[in-house]
Amino acid sequence: MYPDEFEYHSADSVESAVSLLAENPEAELIAGGHSLLPTMKSGLASPDALVDISGVDGLEGVERDGDSTRIGAMTTYAEVADDDQFWEDATVVAETAGEIGDRQVRNRGTVGGNIAHADPASDLPGAMLAADATVHVHGPDGGVEVPHEDGDTASGYVKKPSPSSGYAMVGVAARLTLDGDSVADARVAANGVMDHGTRLSGAEDALEDETLDADAVEAAGAAAGDDLDEYMVMEDQQASAEFRLQLLSVYTERALEKVGERAGAL
Ligand SMILES: Cc1cc2nc3c(=O)[nH]c(=O)nc-3n(C[C@H](O)[C@H](O)[C@H](O)COP(=O)(O)OP(=O)(O)OC[C@H]3O[C@@H](n4cnc5c(N)ncnc54)[C@H](O)[C@@H]3O)c2cc1C
Repeated sequence: MYPDEFEYHSADSVESAVSLLAENPEAELIAGGHSLLPTMKSGLASPDALVDISGVDGLEGVERDGDSTRIGAMTTYAEVADDDQFWEDATVVAETAGEIGDRQVRNRGTVGGNIAHADPASDLPGAMLAADATVHVHGPDGGVEVPHEDGDTASGYVKKPSPSSGYAMVGVAARLTLDGDSVADARVAANGVMDHGTRLSGAEDALEDETLDADAVEAAGAAAGDDLDEYMVMEDQQASAEFRLQLLSVYTERALEKVGERAGAL
């Protein structure tokens, strides 16, 4: 299908993007176009105008600053996943970026677009929650700031991908900080289960101050869905809510096993 007619504007700075949006209240920003264009072509969205931010200086790339890394909104997933230092500093974000879609999607889709679009099955929202990332909006220094992991911290991501698109039917991101054998801090988050990326406080509570062993991992998997509103769990042609909650338990365990092995605890 073809999209409805629209005006096209190209922004060369954040300020010009902001003023073009103010002048065209029905306009949408376009970044990688990998979510917006399909929705326009299928008639689900028909903005009057597009404001293209691909030419805005300073929005692309990864920049390290002390104990965190800033990712520009226009940075592609491939740039993040192919950055070896990112695997050292914030494994869960690099690993998740490398799991998105296929090579074509990773070469085009942007970190800013993924977070702004916030599809329930998107991979990055859960990873950003687990990594304790900060999203900065507006301004030439805008982007996503990801704190670096210290020597006692390990992280990772696993997902059950949709066989057709690669989107997460269920994805679980985890970051654990250990104090000796026990878990001093746990951040566990999921994609694809609710209508937005969600922290799994049931799993986090089951882990904190516990020795990180197989029993703790099993208990965290069993508690993964405890604090979720069961009436809000996603249900579609791919999986019932009940099956999604089973997947959530299994994939929480798998994420924690991966992180535990990386931490040398399992
Ligand atoms: C075949 C296929 C498979 C895919 N598989 C996956 C997958 O496995 N996992 C996954 O997570 N995603 C997947 N995607 C989606 C892909 O990751 C998109 O790239 C992403 O959802 C949107 O990023 P984008 O840069 O393409 O944004 P666009 O499509 O350009 O924009 C999406 C929305 O975000 C807004 N937006 C974009 N940038 C900004 C910004 N900087 N500030 C504010 N608003 C902004 C736009 O106005 C628009 O409303 C897939 C897409 C395709 C086509």
